[in-house]
Amino acid sequence: MRMWRNFVDLGAGLWTTLRQLGRISTVSYPEAPLNLPPRWRGRPTLTRDPDGDERCVACQLCSAVCPTRCIELQAGERADTRRYPLTFRINFSRCIYCGLCEEACPTLAIQLLDEFAFSKQHHADFIYEKDALLIDGTGKHPHYNFYRHSGVALGDKNKGEGINEKPPVNVRSNLP
Ligand code: SF4
Ligand code: SF4
Repeated sequence: MRMWRNFVDLGAGLWTTLRQLGRISTVSYPEAPLNLPPRWRGRPTLTRDPDGDERCVACQLCSAVCPTRCIELQAGERADTRRYPLTFRINFSRCIYCGLCEEACPTLAIQLLDEFAFSKQHHADFIYEKDALLIDGTGKHPHYNFYRHSGVALGDKNKGEGINEKPPVNVRSNLP
């Protein structure tokens, strides 16, 4: 009985190997690009919204959640009261590409995009400042603009005029 069981297990293993044989493809990287899976977690990057403004509102959530404490930033405020990071630094020699910063980010600013091939000779070169982290594109979310959804008056949008936003409630009118 035990011998048959071993044969069945062996056959199952061989069958799995045979099924994969036809699917193997060798890519001549780096000459040919790799076909990365959609949920690939590459180097964390700061993105912009579709209007070209930086998405980050310097809330510090990514820094707080990062298990290796490799994110540091300082908040600033623009004349129109919109917050942004004055400085933003990631030490990639400590980053473990866990994606928790991306999960925590309320504005979809920080995203783990495709870049994975960046080796350096010195540890200090893995420290990226904001100018190296912030890209011109929108990353994985081409249409999302946090301030179009948030309950914040900004520029041409008053409170209650955002996407799926209800007009502000007068809390005094709710009093008994
Ligand atoms: S991917 Fe993980 S380790 Fe890297 S910066 Fe984000 S939270 Fe920190
Ligand atoms: S990247 Fe996202 S989570 Fe981090 S400070 Fe900016 S808005 Fe907050």
